[in-house]
Amino acid sequence: MTSTLPPVPPSLAGRIVVPGDARYERLRHGYVHRGSPAAVLLPEDAGQTAEALGYARSLGSVVSVRSGGHGISGRSTNDGGVVVDVSRLDEVRILDRPRRRIRVGAGARWGQVAQALAPHGLAVSSGDTGDVGVGGLVTAGGMGWFARLHGLTVDHVTAVELVLADGTSARADAEREPDLFWAVRGAGGNFGVVTAVELEAYETDDVVFADLVFDAGDAAALIEAWGAALEAAPRELTSFLTFMPGGPGRPPLARLAAVYAGDETRSAERALTPLSGLGPLLQQRAVLAPYPALVPVSGAAHHGQQQLRATRSGLLDHLTPDAARAVADALESGQVLMEQFRSVGGAVNDTDPAATAYAHRTQNFSLLAATVPELERDLDAHWARLAPHLNGMYLSFDTRRTPEVLAQAFPEPALSRLRTLKDRYDPENVFDRNFPLR
Ligand SMILES: Cc1cc2nc3c(=O)[nH]c(=O)nc-3n(C[C@H](O)[C@H](O)[C@H](O)COP(=O)(O)OP(=O)(O)OC[C@H]3O[C@@H](n4cnc5c(N)ncnc54)[C@H](O)[C@@H]3O)c2cc1C
Repeated sequence: MTSTLPPVPPSLAGRIVVPGDARYERLRHGYVHRGSPAAVLLPEDAGQTAEALGYARSLGSVVSVRSGGHGISGRSTNDGGVVVDVSRLDEVRILDRPRRRIRVGAGARWGQVAQALAPHGLAVSSGDTGDVGVGGLVTAGGMGWFARLHGLTVDHVTAVELVLADGTSARADAEREPDLFWAVRGAGGNFGVVTAVELEAYETDDVVFADLVFDAGDAAALIEAWGAALEAAPRELTSFLTFMPGGPGRPPLARLAAVYAGDETRSAERALTPLSGLGPLLQQRAVLAPYPALVPVSGAAHHGQQQLRATRSGLLDHLTPDAARAVADALESGQVLMEQFRSVGGAVNDTDPAATAYAHRTQNFSLLAATVPELERDLDAHWARLAPHLNGMYLSFDTRRTPEVLAQAFPEPALSRLRTLKDRYDPENVFDRNFPLR
């Protein structure tokens, strides 16, 4: 070890990784962001997490909090600071099977959660990637495969345990610390280190997963048709639509993935059949599968492998012809290298906008556009054309950190309430790596 850092408290002996340690290369980077922290701390319980945070703060350095390392907006690594990595806090426990109450460590991956719940006939919707960590997603929103039937992941959180900036532990739920409970469900990265969450899961057996590939030569028509089909679809159906530009002599392609949240294959067929007529179909398959098969865990080491590191997020009420045209033009320019819609709406919009810090409860679609950093200015030019059609954004899918972005992510009165609570719970702005609330 080449570090000159002061010694860690005894409980963290062996749980600090510094440059020169054989474990360092595997721990320094995230999936999107690369880093060179002075130290990564690996606590194994809530007490050690508090000690790790205290140690990091005593150094006066930048503190990053990491669960699964898949942050796009949230920077869970840094250069020269400390990373508090809670990935060892990954226990998934059934608390009360009849009431479907579960407790999940913030360091678990969502694929792991799906695997642990499936034998009990339960699931919680998270996102489309099993490697994403519980901590980053559950503090922001969670747009997953059951969004239209069951809502966002944050809508199912019943309690949160976290270490606050001053090192104290808190438990927030509807009765105790209700303000903190509200803030953590959408802006949690600004309020502490979450060590565990309790959620209400739902009964889930097999689901039907469909995967369709279209020639997207007329991307605007496909977007409009997909939007209309999803708004008319039963809530059991949630779908993601991803566009990739074509190459020389190749048309752009669109991949439509859809989940019917149930194992009644006839109903699933009825819901899915309209999708295959949305455009020129190149390939299709549908399978009945256990939910964990949709969110496998790869466990791959992170080295900033995601090349499309400039992303923009927007939410849309409807996919109008003008909005579809603007998205298609961006794709056809060849400067925007990926555009991905997720259907939200349905149960997401049953929740009162004031119930959680994630306040967007009228939109039916989420859009993420991505490109390489060298083309970020071109991405912005396309995004400016799309802006009049957007209604808010999901911070987890956007790499910008400007005040305008924050205002779109947290429409008033949410932003003012968050700033007031920030002064109460984190007056020294320790947790500023997710997005700058101040
Ligand atoms: C390939 C990929 C697919 C994705 N798909 C979806 C999707 O389908 N739906 C969706 O909603 N999102 C999706 N996301 C976005 C994802 O939810 C966010 O990037 C999320 O922050 C990742 O969580 P993490 O724990 O892996 O991230 P990390 O990189 O570990 O953390 C990111 C940030 O979250 C905060 N944070 C992390 N852990 C904690 C904690 N324990 N306590 C407090 N704050 C914490 C910190 O501010 C940190 O900087 C996807 C991301 C990727 C890269």
